[in-house]
Amino acid sequence: MNRIAVLTSGGDAPGMNAAIRAVVRKSIYHQIDIYGIYRGYQGLIEDDIKELKVHSVADIIQRGGTVLSTARSEEFRSKEGQQKAIKNLSNRGIEGLIVIGGDGSFRGSMELAKQGIKVIGIPGTIDNDIPGTDQTIGFDTAVNTVISLIDKIRDTASSHDRTFVVEVMGRHAGDIAVRAGLAGGAESIVIPEAAYNFEDISARLKKGYSRGKKHSIIIVAEGVGSGEMVAEKIKKHTGLDTRVTVLGHVQRGGTPTAYDRWLASLMGAKAVDLLLESQSGLMVGIVNQQIVGIPFTQAFTERPKLDLDAYELSKILSI
Ligand code: ATP
Repeated sequence: MNRIAVLTSGGDAPGMNAAIRAVVRKSIYHQIDIYGIYRGYQGLIEDDIKELKVHSVADIIQRGGTVLSTARSEEFRSKEGQQKAIKNLSNRGIEGLIVIGGDGSFRGSMELAKQGIKVIGIPGTIDNDIPGTDQTIGFDTAVNTVISLIDKIRDTASSHDRTFVVEVMGRHAGDIAVRAGLAGGAESIVIPEAAYNFEDISARLKKGYSRGKKHSIIIVAEGVGSGEMVAEKIKKHTGLDTRVTVLGHVQRGGTPTAYDRWLASLMGAKAVDLLLESQSGLMVGIVNQQIVGIPFTQAFTERPKLDLDAYELSKILSI
């Protein structure tokens, strides 16, 4: 393989730049020409492609977002769109493609792989909702961002003896809520993967206040509905002064943590290695601290795994 390309697709995640840097420099190390495709699959369809050099990825390892820009492309879902994409790749003699994104992006990659392009995926999403890998690029940074914000909210919550409901991202997954809730010392965590009832949450809150607790933080994963809805129910059950904070897109930005840069670097390099072995239709994952190639199909079929032990532990530790 002499020529490969890299793109970012779907939602951005901190650490994507570190992955791009690793892909570019590992390719150049192996004397492979490396191209950057801008704006995901839409840019591929529109031939928004440039060759990247060692200096093209200088000074980006510490930056959030993606220097290649990302996009969602309706056109790429159609066979005609995919044909345009394949034509643009073959016109440039590009034989392999590395896609950094979420499961939707990998479904698109599968379509290209079926039509003869060698494609490797790298999981980049703050939600950590891709089965087959223990962690995705961006998750650790998002959790750290949430924790630092919880710490700030706790300062004001304790000054005013208030209950705060904090809504965090994660789409249908409760991973951010559980990781940040346990590490941030939340009094309750509400996630889509576990049954909850407001009587129980309210009873725990009242118990805390009766032993002199001055404030409480309840973390709500966006997948259960909304923080507002949870706050309303708690107010109704307890009469407590309850405020809501929706953290929103601040969770997607910021400087990637050391862990995310490390993970992204290893995954980027592994993706190039897999292409060099003529592999295709695989996603790079981290499983038990090993960087491995996993068939895309596994990423689509298995249910996301969430550490419910950590969820249960958070209840014990927040009594
Ligand atoms: P995130 O988890 O951040 O949302 P994602 O990769 O899951 O990232 P999607 O919007 O689902 O984001 O997918 C990104 C792009 O991948 C889509 O805009 C579309 O171009 C392409 N894509 C998704 N699903 C398919 C599919 N079944 N066939 C072809 N292309 C697809």
